[in-house]
Amino acid sequence: MSRAATHCPYCALQCGMYLANGAASGTVQVTPRPAGSNRGGLCQKGWTSAELLTSTHRLTTPLIRWRRGDPLEPASWDEALSFIATNLRRLQGDHDTDTVAVLGGGGLTNEKAYALGKFARVVLRTKNIDYNGRFCMSSAAAAGNKAFGLDRGLPFPVSDIAEAGTVMLAGANVAETMPPFLQYLSAQNENGGHLIVVDPRVTETARQADLHLQITPGTDLALALGMLHIAIMEGYVDRAYVANRTSGFDAVRPIVMSYWPERVERVTGVPASQQREAVRLLAEVDRALILTARGAEQHAKGVDTVSAFVNLALALGLPGMPGSGYGCLTGQGNGQGGREHGQKADQLPGYRMIDDPAARAHVAAVWGVDPTTIPGKGPSAFELMDSLGGDQDGPRALLVFGTNPVVSAPAAARVEQRFRELDLLVVADLVLSETAALADVVLPTAQWAEEDGTMTNLEGRVIRRRRLRPPPGEVRTDLEILAGLADRLGCGGAINPDPERTFAELGRASAGGVADYSGITYAQLDASDGVFWPCPGPGHPGTPRLFLDRFATPDGRARFVPVEHRAAVEDIDADYPVYLTTGRVLAQYQSGAQTRRIDALHTAAPGAFVELHPDLAERYGIADGDDVRVTSRRGTATAPARVTETIRADTVFMPFHWGGAGRANTLTNPALDPTSRMPEFKVCAVRLERVAGRTQREAGAAADAGAFEKLTTAEVHG
Ligand code: SF4
Repeated sequence: MSRAATHCPYCALQCGMYLANGAASGTVQVTPRPAGSNRGGLCQKGWTSAELLTSTHRLTTPLIRWRRGDPLEPASWDEALSFIATNLRRLQGDHDTDTVAVLGGGGLTNEKAYALGKFARVVLRTKNIDYNGRFCMSSAAAAGNKAFGLDRGLPFPVSDIAEAGTVMLAGANVAETMPPFLQYLSAQNENGGHLIVVDPRVTETARQADLHLQITPGTDLALALGMLHIAIMEGYVDRAYVANRTSGFDAVRPIVMSYWPERVERVTGVPASQQREAVRLLAEVDRALILTARGAEQHAKGVDTVSAFVNLALALGLPGMPGSGYGCLTGQGNGQGGREHGQKADQLPGYRMIDDPAARAHVAAVWGVDPTTIPGKGPSAFELMDSLGGDQDGPRALLVFGTNPVVSAPAAARVEQRFRELDLLVVADLVLSETAALADVVLPTAQWAEEDGTMTNLEGRVIRRRRLRPPPGEVRTDLEILAGLADRLGCGGAINPDPERTFAELGRASAGGVADYSGITYAQLDASDGVFWPCPGPGHPGTPRLFLDRFATPDGRARFVPVEHRAAVEDIDADYPVYLTTGRVLAQYQSGAQTRRIDALHTAAPGAFVELHPDLAERYGIADGDDVRVTSRRGTATAPARVTETIRADTVFMPFHWGGAGRANTLTNPALDPTSRMPEFKVCAVRLERVAGRTQREAGAAADAGAFEKLTTAEVHG
């Protein structure tokens, strides 16, 4: 095929694009393609995405480290798969089947996520599988399930945003994370709508807001409780909606009555007048949307924080009303589908729970196994990683697909050490990421332009990924790798390497589940602009808007969930007197394994930095460009200062896309939410020091040179 209509490989907006073989040998041209979510927009990451297809950083052959301490060496697939299978069998024989663990990713296609979950349960017989969506979406997912009985990030099409009278973004910087999304906010603004942004920084998104609530990191929960207090006191509660469509309001009301605006102002730093204005803007329009993202969710109280925003939305009568509602902005490309089909520790395909006997029986029948052989619930991603290797009781082998936790996990130095203590680490990736560089075996995988499959975008719209051309050299798709491994492990046929057949099997496994894909076919997707799940059975048109008549709870009512504010797990003190919050920049994506290797993106965002207010900089004698040493109770990171008035004077910000000295996640706190097991990425306590003896120029040059690790295959061999 000389042209493929597909979608961007990166974030959950999944912008449509055409790929075509370029005039120069091997190159691929990207052009925008109007699709349901982007209407023709692409950001710089999407425009440059094809560069990685021909990058010199690309892995094209399996690599094996035959003995510890040796370099990785090129190997054949036969050698690599035999090495893995032999060692897995040996370890499972010496210990038990749970000694092998699997980590997946929210960027994997639905087919891969499904196959990975089946591979872990049917081929490896291990309970130890989880994925990096724990670090992304899990808090909003848990809160959505509690309130609505169902978790779909946006339960309405993204185009509804343009029609809303007021949009409130809590912890979302869409101008940098998914720029084409701004067209909906621009249209909303042109329609006379209002935008409220909750963020500790004056981000590009906050600059466009009518009202920016510049909150203290870790206090979003108090803000949401306070806003509900104001809604009650000022008569904005939609009493008919609360009576007819919800339950539990009476349990929430007495809690929020103690969150009066002045108290909330002391906790959050948001003036009482702004709190009142925000509630008024939401309540006095016909259509309003409250949307949360990682800023509000990545906390050890992330589920309760989202529940508090959902409570506010319910009190105002928004969810399930046309053009109004609550939603969560998914981050990773397949963050939605990736959590629906069985790579999560507690779930089976179709968003079924693994401890539900009926769910186990249904999925076992599709898989052709005895339900009793399907392992039970395993630990969450961070808990799993923290139990690996060494003298611990946890798994001694780990297979990693589509994630780079050495950069993206909290307390990353500790995680890196756990990985080093494994008896066997296998990483499937397209480049030698920081995690792959530690592996005993590295398996080169196909990129998005070289494979077919489906993704589920932030709206719950299932869309087609289409192959332009085959992968180069010895590269295989993840499905082919899993099928080959299953064969070596005596389970030939358990994993189908064909994406369309795997999707059909996924559909059968999901039938009757919450996320029911059983009516969706590749032919239907190819003839449409995607299909919104649930789509239960052939001929069903899909479900763009959820909850219009009833919620997915047993009684059809949405549930208010009583929650209380609590401080960040690690508040500032005399030893660590400054808050650290982390996030993304426009030109990089997640752990940066892909985008750091694209020249234009590296030039635009070459390395980590420490953003701090002039008052804070003056207190520590730091000038713009100076190297700053940031220390938390987990470790130290060093990066050049960016002094700016756009951040609170008690807070520093670091982007988390880089490894090495500037790795922000060396600092972050692995305290977990009790329900979602989401780590507290968004707030911890740090202290600052200017690195002595270096001029601004030296510091900037060193950070720039160190930021882009040149992990080429040649260097590894050397
Ligand atoms: Fe669209 Fe996200 Fe890709 Fe940018 S990174 S082009 S916003 S899908």
